[in-house]
Parts: sequence; structure tokens; C-alpha cells
Amino acid sequence: MKYLYLTLTFFISFHTLQAQRDFNKVQIKEEKVGEQLYMLTGSGGNMALLHGEDGVFLIDDQFAPLTEKILTKIKTLTGKDKVDFLVNTHWHGDHTGGNENMGKQGALIVAHENVRARMQRGRTKLEAGRAVKPAPKVALPVMTFEEGINLHLNGEDIMVFHVDIAHTDGDAIVYFPKSNVIHTGDTYFKERYPYIDINSGGHINGVLKTLERIIFLADGDTKIIPGHGSLSNKEELMAYRNVLMTCRDRIQKAIKAGKTLEEIQASDITKEWDESWGGGFINPTSFRKTLYTNLKEQD
Ligand SMILES: [Zn+2]
Repeated sequence: MKYLYLTLTFFISFHTLQAQRDFNKVQIKEEKVGEQLYMLTGSGGNMALLHGEDGVFLIDDQFAPLTEKILTKIKTLTGKDKVDFLVNTHWHGDHTGGNENMGKQGALIVAHENVRARMQRGRTKLEAGRAVKPAPKVALPVMTFEEGINLHLNGEDIMVFHVDIAHTDGDAIVYFPKSNVIHTGDTYFKERYPYIDINSGGHINGVLKTLERIIFLADGDTKIIPGHGSLSNKEELMAYRNVLMTCRDRIQKAIKAGKTLEEIQASDITKEWDESWGGGFINPTSFRKTLYTNLKEQD
């Protein structure tokens, strides 16, 4: 027992140190996408920053240890030292980790009602691979919506809206019509297989429906900020949608033909993209399993 305890302690501290070291090395970088609008990257989900006379508006806030670096970058770009309005595209920790810090400084946090519900509840290890502690009150969104909400700030009529259960059951897309910029949250993982969080209510068909809506809103000049990956555009997003649709259709067909998950895993059903898109967090095996699970349910 003592040995196990020591091993666990070592394991935990090693990983904590590892994580801290990684965050120490992270740099927050900006890419200008509008007059007063930036895409910000560091470690975790891509952020967007809009500033102007009405204050600082931020989409997502990565991990808590990065708050100071994010605020330093915001200060450099805007001269302001806190965030006034914060939108979370969904509840995952690499998009909401800074909420507590920013909430304490008075940020008004806005998100889909399921983001608040899931953060408030947290999740146990039994429900998913990793347990998540319930978030403190100050980290929770105080303004929630079911379908959408508009914010009129800094000369933009910002549209924040939910399309369907997709990456999770609380995804928000954020559209800046004047700057012609769309932040997709994690409904779009550029050039890699998507993570569809089934334990948080995600579904491939909702991902496709959400991508359709974004394609409808975008034109050839729209700058698209994906949840993960570099700045994108309509053409790339359409190619992504087409690949996901092809994979969805093939797996659906295989299920209808009576194929088991094992047979689907052993086949070359997604082979064209397995090498280029399956090398990250979501490999071909987990991607196929997710689609199979989603689609089998409806069979
Ligand atoms: Zn996510």
C-alpha cells in the first residue's frame, strides 16, 4: 500500500511538474483578423480578442496557468488589463480554464446553458476518461442562452449561437459580420480528425449540421478561426466537411450492411485521411469508434 502511495505521489508530481514546465514555455501569439480583432494562440483552444471603446471581449481562455500571459498579451494589444466580456465556445478545460481568474476580475461570462450546467456539475471518472471537478461559482457563465445571443460591442454586432449537439451539447459559434470572421469553437479541428465528446452529448450529425451553417454564413473572404489549428477559410472548411460527410456515410452504410465495430476497425474505410489527419489526439481507431457509436445508436 505504501509503495502504491509513493508511486502515485511520484506519478502525480511528475506530471504536475511536466505540465508546469510546458506552460512556462508557452507563448501567447496574435494574428490580426480585423481592425480591432485578433486570433490568439498559446496552448489549448484558439482564442479571439475584440477590443475598442466598449471594452475587451474575449472568446475562450485556455488553461488557468496561462491567464497572466494572456492578460499581458491583451495589455500589449489594447492597453487594458482585464477582460470585460468572455464567451466560452463549450465547457472543456482547454477553453474555460481561465474562467475563474477572469471571473474574479469581473469578466461577464456568457455561454450556452449546458456549459454552465456541465461546469457546475463536473464529471466523475465513471462517466468519462478523466474526472473534472465542479467549477467554483466565479468561473461559471452568468449569462446563458439556448439558441443564441447577440452582443453589440466595439462597433460589431457579434452573433453567438448554438446549432445542434456537435462537439458537445453546448457548442457556440461566434460570428463577427463587420470583420467577416467566424470562431467555430471545437466543431472544426483543422486538418485533423474531430474530437466528438460523446460523454458531453456530442454527435457527428450535429457537427455536420453546424459546419453547414458556417458554410452558409461564410464567403470567400471570411477568416475562420478553428477550435484547434491555424487560421482557416471557407474552402478549407468545406473540404473538412466533405471528408467528415464521406466518413459518416461510409460507416453508416457499413452498419446497415451488418458490419461490427471490429470489422470496421479492420477495414480501410477511412484510409485516405488516416495518415494525414489521424496522427494527433484522435487517431483513426478512436475516430471510427466515435462515428460507429453515434450512428449505431440511431440504427
Ligand atoms: Zn473541446
